[in-house]
Amino acid sequence: RERTLAMIKPDGLSGNYREKIKAAILDSGFRIVKETEVQLDAGRASLFYAEHSQRSFFDSLVKYITSGQVLAMVLEKPDAITQWRALIGPTDARKAKTSHPDSIRAMCGLDSEKNCVHGSDSPESAAREISFFFGDGDSE
Ligand code: ATP
Repeated sequence: RERTLAMIKPDGLSGNYREKIKAAILDSGFRIVKETEVQLDAGRASLFYAEHSQRSFFDSLVKYITSGQVLAMVLEKPDAITQWRALIGPTDARKAKTSHPDSIRAMCGLDSEKNCVHGSDSPESAAREISFFFGDGDSE
């Protein structure tokens, strides 16, 4: 079994998609191991998205992700990282609506920025992002 970091972004929470997203998670066979709802400040958000710091959309991304609370979750199942990325669909929610209509981003996303959920893209990111929200403790 593998673990990944899932995050419902501020638009997902403010749009009241929390329960629908959680239902999709559980229906797909993931276990929600831990969860925490937090308000990121600009410093923490910049750290989380450090790999994008040189991108043109970075300032906008930080503003978006700090515009309300986020719900971070550790999800567990075999091949969790790839499986969660498949369930959320492509980054651009407009594309998700046409090419992946059953994906979570098709359900609650708006465009290439406001795409309502996040998923770790590799084992290294998953480890870093899980400790970002939950520390290095290995407890349940
Ligand atoms: P995430 O890492 O959140 O799961 P992702 O891996 O699909 O998303 P990345 O390319 O890592 O996408 O970008 C991180 C986030 O930055 C995206 O989820 C989105 O919110 C925002 N973003 C990505 N591309 C753009 C863009 N062209 N314009 C505005 N925002 C963008």
